[in-house]
Amino acid sequence: MKKVLDKGYVILVDTMGSDLSVVNSARVSFNKATETLRDEDQKLIRYLAKNDHTSPFRHATMQFEIYAPLMVARQWWKYIIGSSHQDPFAAWNESSRRYVTEAIEFYIPEETAWRSKPENMKQGSGNNLGMLIGKEASQKLLSQIEEGMKNYDWAIENGIATEQARLFIPSAYGLMVRWYWTASLQGVAHFLNQRTDAHAQFEIRAYAEAVKGYALDKFPIAIEALLENTK
Ligand SMILES: Cc1cc2nc3c(=O)[nH]c(=O)nc-3n(C[C@H](O)[C@H](O)[C@H](O)COP(=O)(O)OP(=O)(O)OC[C@H]3O[C@@H](n4cnc5c(N)ncnc54)[C@H](O)[C@@H]3O)c2cc1C
Repeated sequence: MKKVLDKGYVILVDTMGSDLSVVNSARVSFNKATETLRDEDQKLIRYLAKNDHTSPFRHATMQFEIYAPLMVARQWWKYIIGSSHQDPFAAWNESSRRYVTEAIEFYIPEETAWRSKPENMKQGSGNNLGMLIGKEASQKLLSQIEEGMKNYDWAIENGIATEQARLFIPSAYGLMVRWYWTASLQGVAHFLNQRTDAHAQFEIRAYAEAVKGYALDKFPIAIEALLENTK
């Protein structure tokens, strides 16, 4: 497990294939396969990535369990191709508050972690704002959550269905949600290219770095080649 932010994490649940799957998927064109990854195979992986021969990278997949604030899940959900709720070979499954009343947790930035508006960009953040504003911001967020949770508990105690009572859950953007994400190697690399970039929001960047760690560990040559050569 790789811990992310104050309460979140990324777990690599499973993988299919290895760097060698990319090589053998490409070499099937010549009816050839190899059992160990040789220097020439590594060169082939880099050649494929550099020349946009991307289909061999779709024969390997990664499956993750992620626990993250809803705002991060919404950004992640936009990765449709090869990693999706629309793709019959891949999937996105999320825990449902219609059925379960699992512990309700919220992402609460540290008092020193509140960021200013950026000066030159329309999106993103500037520097950290310092303790004075940060302390007040954390307190305001906590009291908002406390108030909303009182109403949620009241709704449950008074017999309102969980699926409707959840309307009272406050701070929806910071509500921690859990899901499984399965994606092809190409899909993972596309996500990493966009979400480890400085333009991406700090919070999803932190998750992308955790995913990148696992991806480089399991598919060192293929992921490096995709990150260097595709955008
Ligand atoms: C910094 C940043 C800010 C963002 N801000 C916003 C925002 O304000 N609002 C918002 O709604 N989204 C926003 N997004 C999300 C963005 O628009 C994409 O939906 C998201 O990054 C997923 O990328 P994608 O569409 O390339 O991924 P996928 O949907 O997985 O597509 C992968 C690739 O497949 C190809 N492809 C997909 N669909 C088609 C198609 N129909 N025709 C041809 N080729 C296709 C493209 O090459 C595409 O890059 C933002 C993303 C970033 C990184």
